[in-house]
Amino acid sequence: KAGGRLVVVSNRVALPRQGAPGGLASALHAALDEHGGLWFGWSGKVAGETAAELHQQQEGKIDYATIDLSRTDHDDFYTGFANGALWPLLHYRPDVVDYRRSHLAGYLRVNEMFAEKLQQLIKPDDVIWVHDYHLIPLASMLRARGVHNRIGFFLHTPLPAAGLLIALPNHRELLETLASYDLVGVHTRRDLRALEDYFLHEAGAVMRLAGRMRMPNGRQFRAGAFPISIDTRGIADVAAKAASIREITQLQHSLEGRALIIGVDRLDYSKGLPQRFEGYARLLERHPELHQQVTFLQIAPPSRGAVLEYRAIRHELERSAGHINGKYATPDWAPIRYINKSFPHRLLAGYYRSARVGLVTPLRDGMNLVAKEYVACQDPADPGVLVLSRFAGAALELEDALLVNPADTEEVADALALALKMPLAERRRRWEAMMDVLRTNDITLWRRNFLGTLRA
Ligand code: UDP
Repeated sequence: KAGGRLVVVSNRVALPRQGAPGGLASALHAALDEHGGLWFGWSGKVAGETAAELHQQQEGKIDYATIDLSRTDHDDFYTGFANGALWPLLHYRPDVVDYRRSHLAGYLRVNEMFAEKLQQLIKPDDVIWVHDYHLIPLASMLRARGVHNRIGFFLHTPLPAAGLLIALPNHRELLETLASYDLVGVHTRRDLRALEDYFLHEAGAVMRLAGRMRMPNGRQFRAGAFPISIDTRGIADVAAKAASIREITQLQHSLEGRALIIGVDRLDYSKGLPQRFEGYARLLERHPELHQQVTFLQIAPPSRGAVLEYRAIRHELERSAGHINGKYATPDWAPIRYINKSFPHRLLAGYYRSARVGLVTPLRDGMNLVAKEYVACQDPADPGVLVLSRFAGAALELEDALLVNPADTEEVADALALALKMPLAERRRRWEAMMDVLRTNDITLWRRNFLGTLRA
């Protein structure tokens, strides 16, 4: 039962030849290559009709199967329920949750469609690995269709405490379906505690040995913490070679010797960007001697523009960046460079390495890969300093960052000041300690741990 193909299921499928794949996509491709496999999910296309046909292609040992979604299904399932209700709930923002029955119905409809199509593709000894909050009920729907395969689930977001999860209408109907998986993975101990707490106190489960929980109906499943990571060595190599790329030398030249602070985030309200800008403004207010001496580069590609909240935060940040520049800039210096565009990893690696400070201050984040990438990209001889939110999953591993509460703008300003004047010896000591963690727990270990546990 445990030796078969790997079947990866995710909302978006990283098809071959679609540009440079991200870290997760590379890791999943490597896993699929090892055992042979299938990657199934949404094609990324909105069409007249949902799943009239399956698009299939093959590349080496990997099969890809994708389905299109109709406009209504896409809007209800993806924009409406997944990103309008689940995402804010999972990021501790019940105030932002926009719950509608019609969106939930669409979410269940698309999951049912996934189950129906997937059932026809799987073989008896396949191991199935489902990803993320878009597909929580998938295993229960597959089980109802008589699928007995090993099925694992990994949640890429945080999982909030039970007291917050119950804010979701009909939460038990949705969350209890997690028990249909054989293994449920989250990033951190904190998320795992929340999961156990929910199942023990809201779903009537009892704790068994080795992370097992037993439901009132007798079904047992396992839960565990599997902190995702990056291709540490690969990224460090890319960063070391980036020094000669034109875009990187141009950035360095433009700094005219000033220290660079860098932030890189999707434009999302969970990333704490308004508070971050505020913290930087405090730094400038309290440290006039730093004027002209620092530049803050914030890269923030827009995402999910169909959700109201995302348009609102974009306007707020434009105001804030404009305000700070208006107040502190001089004809030859702008304190903030704010860019609503995405950059390829190859350039990000060089930008990270050029920055004396990595400023990563999400209000909540499952892991936050940017924090790990920033560390991996530093020059070992002259590494920069990571200022990191305590509420990113990464903070539980990167204890040698300067950890801050992102809502405390005074603390963020203090940490920035400390980082900017930190002596080389301390920067190196902190960086070495963080690199040790990242060299051990890299992306390969992450997928091997999860799949090893699922197959065991
Ligand atoms: N990223 C990128 N180009 C950009 C901005 C971000 O390639 O312009 C990448 C970044 O390097 C990281 C990922 O997107 O690998 C973001 O992952 P993270 O866990 O930090 O946040 P998420 O966007 O998943 O919430």
